[in-house]
Amino acid sequence: MTDCTGLYSFPPPPITAIPVDGSSEHVPIRRVYCVGRNYADHAREMGADPTAERPFFFQKNPDNLLYGEDFPYPPLSSDVQHEVELAVVLKAGGTNLTLPQAMAAIYGYAVAIDFTRRDLQAAAKAKGQPWITGKAFEHSAPISAIVPSERIGHPEHGRIWLDNNGAAIQDGDLNQMIMKPAEIIAELSRLFCLAAGDIILTGTPAGVAPVRKGDKLTCGIDGVAQLRLSVV
Ligand code: MN
Repeated sequence: MTDCTGLYSFPPPPITAIPVDGSSEHVPIRRVYCVGRNYADHAREMGADPTAERPFFFQKNPDNLLYGEDFPYPPLSSDVQHEVELAVVLKAGGTNLTLPQAMAAIYGYAVAIDFTRRDLQAAAKAKGQPWITGKAFEHSAPISAIVPSERIGHPEHGRIWLDNNGAAIQDGDLNQMIMKPAEIIAELSRLFCLAAGDIILTGTPAGVAPVRKGDKLTCGIDGVAQLRLSVV
């Protein structure tokens, strides 16, 4: 990277930063990785065989994160679905991390929703194309404040759930994750160079379902955080 202070052709884009729970600090976000099919029941509901295929990775953009605002129903889709997920936030990175190094790289956790334009994702899947149109759209990743692991440790189990208009829709447990957070970080670090500010959405339990304008969503991970928003 070049230091070109004062020489940019346009103002540089703002840094996406997510508040730290109970603090005036914010975590500056560098990259957003996502894990696909990391809960067996969800893999099955999507028509996949979790015994035949390992979880895999895709990305959203840092500025797709949405904090403290309602979710605007996106264009070009009539099947936008929620996926409630544990978000893992890194304070360090590197390549070829061991599992202990991966654990030590974790800054904290949050609850997030991986909103998906399922119809566009399905069309991309059918053509063997990337998932960018289905996944990496504006405001597609609402997230709670980040809770430091100094306060809550490293949750290995705990209910992960989403209610829509008061009805329970998704209900799983972190202990159902096929790849645990440290394993995900270690594997990502063999593929990419990780760094502080990277955030990983670790996959969703079963029960993904469409949303409509006016829906009121409440979701959470017991012992971590909750998130509440409307679809507008
Ligand atoms: Mn997901």
